Formats: sequence, C-alpha cells, structure tokens
Amino acid sequence: MTSRPIRTRFAPSPTGRIHIGNARSALYPFLLARHLGGTFLLRIEDTDQKRSTPEAEKELIEGLRWLGLKYDEGPDIGGPHGPYRQTERRAIYHEYAWKLVVSGHAFPCFCTSQRLEQIRQEQQKNKQNPRYDGVCRNIAPEDARRRVESGERHVIRFKMPKEGSITATDLLRGPITTENASLDDSVLLKSDGLPTYHLAAMVDDHLMQITHIIRGSEWLPSMPLHIHVIRAFGWEEPVFAHLSVFLKPSGKGKLSKRDKDEAMKDGHSTFLGDMKELGYTPEGVLNWIALMGWGVADGDVMTLDQMIQRFNIDNLTPSPAAVNFQKLDHFNATHIRLLTTPDLAARIKPYFLKEGLEADNDTLLKIVPLIRERLVTLDDCIAFAAFFFRENVEPNPADLIAKDLDAASCAQIAKKMREILSSLPSLSHAEAEPPMRAYVESSGYSPAQVFGILRVAVTGQKVSPPLFESMEIIGREKVLERLEAAIDLLEKM
Ligand code: GLU
Repeated sequence: MTSRPIRTRFAPSPTGRIHIGNARSALYPFLLARHLGGTFLLRIEDTDQKRSTPEAEKELIEGLRWLGLKYDEGPDIGGPHGPYRQTERRAIYHEYAWKLVVSGHAFPCFCTSQRLEQIRQEQQKNKQNPRYDGVCRNIAPEDARRRVESGERHVIRFKMPKEGSITATDLLRGPITTENASLDDSVLLKSDGLPTYHLAAMVDDHLMQITHIIRGSEWLPSMPLHIHVIRAFGWEEPVFAHLSVFLKPSGKGKLSKRDKDEAMKDGHSTFLGDMKELGYTPEGVLNWIALMGWGVADGDVMTLDQMIQRFNIDNLTPSPAAVNFQKLDHFNATHIRLLTTPDLAARIKPYFLKEGLEADNDTLLKIVPLIRERLVTLDDCIAFAAFFFRENVEPNPADLIAKDLDAASCAQIAKKMREILSSLPSLSHAEAEPPMRAYVESSGYSPAQVFGILRVAVTGQKVSPPLFESMEIIGREKVLERLEAAIDLLEKM
C-alpha cells in the first residue's frame, strides 16, 4: 500500500458507446477514492485518432453523469494535472519518450511497414510469436539522432532487456513473473508523433500521481512492459488491479458483440444509453455491475453511498462474472421500490411524455403508490398506467365478457354499475366501493365477474392497479364515459 494521497482514474478511449464494462472500470476507482477520501479523475485516451470521436467522449461524460460518478478532475472541468485529453499532451509524451532514448531504455526505429510486415509473415510461417527483430536496436545513438533530425520517418520503441525476468504484481492475482526474452520491443511513440497506450498511460498515471490503476483484464498481458517502463523512468509503482472479464449469460465464453445484439432483442442491453431508454435506473445498473467482480454477498442491495462506505479494493475478485439480466431486473425493481414518491414520479414522467401523454404532476403523485410495486423498469409505467392519461380506452370487446357469462348479461351488469356509480356525487374510493360490493352480494355474480367487467371497461386492460383507487384518480366523468362506451360495445356483440 502506498503512503501517497489516494488518486484514481477512469481512462476510457472515446471510440464507441459506453457500456457496462466502462461503467465498472469507472465505478471501482470512484468507490476507492471516495471511500478513502482521495481524488478520482477522468482522462480521455484519444490517441487512436481514427477511432476516437467527440460524440463518444460526450456519451462517456453523460454516462458518468447519469450514473452519478462525479469526477474531481477531467477534460471538461480541468484540474491541477491537465490537460486531461491525451491528444492535448503530445509534447509531454515526446519529451518522455526521448528521456528513455537518452537513458538507453528506448531507441528510434526506422523500419518501414513493408519490412515489418515481411518479418511478421516469416515469423508466422515459422510458427513464432510476431515481434520486432531488433535491427534498429544496434544503430549508434549519434547516427540515430542524425537520421531523426534529418526528418526520417521513425517510431520509438522500448529497448526490452534480452535477459532476466520481471515480476509484476496484480492486486487480485498476486505476483506474475515473465521472462524478458518473451517480451517485445514495443512501440512507445508512433511515426505520427502520438504515443501508444503503453507510454501515454504510464506517463500520465505518473504525472497525475495515480496510486491505483484499476482497469480491464485485457491489459494484464501488457503489465510486464508497463512495469519495465515505470522502472526505466525510476518512478514509484502504482497498485495494479485488473478486473475480471464478463461472460455470456450462459456463463460459457466471453461476452461477445453478438450476445449484446441478442440481449437487445429481449429488452436488455449492455450499453448505458439503451439501458436508460429501456427504463433502467442508475441505482439498479450500478448495484448490478458492482457485484460483478466485487466479492460482497451476491444479493446485496446497495445505493452508491452504501457502496462507498463498504468498498474495499482487497475484495475485488478476478473470477469472471456471467452477465445475468434477471439479476439486473431484480436490482432495478428493488431500487425503484426504494425511491421516494416524488422522485419516482419525476422519473416516470418522461416515459409518458414520450408516448404523447400529458402526465401532470398531481396525477403522477397519486399513481406512483399504486404502481410502484409492479415496476421492473421505469417504462413499465406505460403498460400499467397509460390509461390514466388517455382520453379514451379501447378495450378488446372479448375481454369485457366475464367468465361463464354472455355479452347480454355482461351488458346488464355494466348498466347496473353505471346506474349505481352515476348516482354517487363523487367516485372516491370510500364512496364507490361499499355500494358496488353490496350490488355484487345481491346480484349472485362473483366479485371477479363483476369487477372484471368494470376493470376492463375503465382501464381498457385485464390487469390494472387497484380498481377503486384507480377510478378515484380517473374521476367520475371519465369513468362513466368509459362505462358507457363498454355498454355500447357489449350491446353490439
Ligand atoms: N484507454 C484504455 C481503455 O479504454 C484505458 C485502460 C486503462 O484504464 O488504463 O481500455
């Protein structure tokens, strides 16, 4: 453990849509920093200029904001170690790459891409691992410098020791020893002057005083090189933690692009933008991803604040986690139940507006207690409660016919109910229920038959929130209109 002030970072490449892997790579360093009173920053790694886009950066920032993972330093808010966008730090990487050349840990390489391709093909033919063959390692430093100064196209490569081994420690997996002979002279600075990840991330993590590098396990194989780079500079080594991989829902094999497309077909997604659209809450999503790689009890329901309190980096686990959408639904529904009524009302409102339904705040506040327990995703509010805001409902005529009855008797029942309800000054729950129950008693029909007809007539659906509470919210006038329309339908059958 380090004695330096805790500083962690999320360092995404803005090359695509923000997904749960990014979200988890942001969550853990955020939790660590908040738990220990440290600093969490956002650094945009946009050195792959072909694939990086401003839209992707925007989506990353919006995603973090949606999740509530507030960073203390970042490209849009600045900070003492900026700039926080790597393409704005070119001069820094250039300077540090050359420091390594001067100290003998790196060398300019003038090999053309054709030559490199040729070596690669030969190595492939001989079933060898592709790697640089070392030709430019032996160019005398003054010759190399002269060639660089004359403008000859070059990259800068790390001069990997040929002998010995390196031991790099991953917090989750322990020490890993690698023979240097198996490592490549990796490119640190490309011919366009931009750094590769290997140089840029190590330089930035040092200059930004990062104490813990928490990142995806795809970087585990590069850790020996990174430790070499850090040691070549003589810098203090941060703690490295490589997160577990996500597996397919079946648990067999890594989650693939195809799995993500499949998920979308049944109303799930691994992209934050879609998840928001599908009615997932940040609380539900965070709880779900938090448990995929953090060894707390599987079913633990936690808000972000509770996660901050409980977080311990030593409990991160390297075991792969299968993406289980049923668990996501469970956490989402659970967190929806924990929201206050005004909060939930505000969160479902946009879904009604998107349907063209003018959901007013007063009505929303009344509806929320009736539907809260039924919502798995926020957009379920449409299926359960759109009828409150529609001008008319359009029941399926067959649904108006109660079990074991014909259309004519159902029309009679509906007329009787209209008579009772229209005699009441208001349809408050307290006023409407007793006379209706008395009618059921006297009619000889079952409550399921009678109230079934009323429910379908008034809400347009066979399953609805509690009927009398719903009628009170809809109001006398609309309830009577809908009952009238149902009688018409029944009489035409
Ligand atoms: N830009 C790298 C990525 O998106 C960052 C990895 C890291 O956190 O260092 O995978």
